[in-house]
Amino acid sequence: MEPITALKAELVPLGNQQTIRAMVTTEHAQGAVTIPAGISVGAAEAKLIDPAQAVQTIHEVIGPVLVGKDCLDQRSIDQALMDLDGTADRSHLGVNALLPVSLAVARAAAAALSRELYEQIAELANTEPRLPETIVVALEGGKHAPSSGLTIQEFSLVGSPATAAQIIDALDAQLRQMGHPSTTGGEGGLVLSGQLTNQAALQLLLDAAIKSGTSQPQLALDVAASHGVIPEAEVRQLVGQFPIAIIEDPLEQENLEQWQAWTKEFGTSRLIAADDLTVGNPRMIKDAVQQGVANCLVVKLNQTATLSELLDLVDLVRVGNWKIVVSHRGLETDDAFITDLAVGIGAEYLKAGSLRRPERKAKYDRLAAIRIHLQQGTTTGSTVAPQAPSQPPSNPMTSPPDGDSRTSSEEPSVADSPVGQ
Ligand code: PEP
Ligand code: MG
Repeated sequence: MEPITALKAELVPLGNQQTIRAMVTTEHAQGAVTIPAGISVGAAEAKLIDPAQAVQTIHEVIGPVLVGKDCLDQRSIDQALMDLDGTADRSHLGVNALLPVSLAVARAAAAALSRELYEQIAELANTEPRLPETIVVALEGGKHAPSSGLTIQEFSLVGSPATAAQIIDALDAQLRQMGHPSTTGGEGGLVLSGQLTNQAALQLLLDAAIKSGTSQPQLALDVAASHGVIPEAEVRQLVGQFPIAIIEDPLEQENLEQWQAWTKEFGTSRLIAADDLTVGNPRMIKDAVQQGVANCLVVKLNQTATLSELLDLVDLVRVGNWKIVVSHRGLETDDAFITDLAVGIGAEYLKAGSLRRPERKAKYDRLAAIRIHLQQGTTTGSTVAPQAPSQPPSNPMTSPPDGDSRTSSEEPSVADSPVGQ
């Protein structure tokens, strides 16, 4: 028993908005979490309330109920949060009041038990920790970077952040040479100056990879099809032409039959990842698994209101043998909770932007620290052994990542085998 003695919240700047930081204090420990925010928010996502009101709600509504409760009992705390809200879309108290509290409880519990956060999450999830492969955003478009002229939201490299950084630098130099200088986007990817098509951008990214010594990189796209106008034929052509291992939201969320057809056609060799399609909603995810409309779940903060709900989603998709990408949001903070989450739930992938932005780098730095922790065998909650660096899989469906997520200080490596059919 580790009773909660205080719950505090404050507003923290986030881009030109504000977000919420919640801090849970117990008899022996403290845990604070700051939540991010989305830019391309899914239509059916859990509801946010005004940030100032969320802070007030935490102090006046949530605090009085949680103080005195056992911080180690995440399930019953999360149930209390759900009961207080009482709505399916979290519109009463707001996901931005509920989630930072739930996550801060987990961080405080880890501190009280003198364990790492990922160990605490792994124990709650009853899962073996795993070092995820990293998905590094190289180019930004869509709603995240409308000025780029690109209709796809994220063009990413699957592999180590250090290698991706070299490729991004090479692409940056190439664009300058071509007279199309780029800027750095909010996620640390490059933002083009509007003259290139999606196809040309992908070709330049591949060329930059080859120039910097990576002959056959694996790519990932977040098409975010519900947030723009991207013909299915165009996405299909890109998938046929480039080594794209992971395709997030390739189709609009209404087109379930097309999703199903895509998963049948491409799902044995590629990941068809559902983000806006399922928006962290348990009922939608259950249906999606049953109907086989995707084979990979994107997990983002703010889509679920508590950690327990999020862990339940993992169980739901594992039944269907889906893979998991834990993803950053469009607007991020220095908080690296998602890295511990990815390791703790045994996610195959972590998508967190590029090293060019400090709040994204923080996620990869945390992954490097966890790697060392695992290598030192200091883990208390896991039997997962650190693994020697090896090549990422050529087929993301049949070969789960093996923990080869080296970071900036480590030997560079990106996949050297394309995603083959
Ligand atoms: C995404 O769609 O994967 C993403 C990072 O976008 P946002 O956080 O803006 O919803
Ligand atoms: Mg997405």
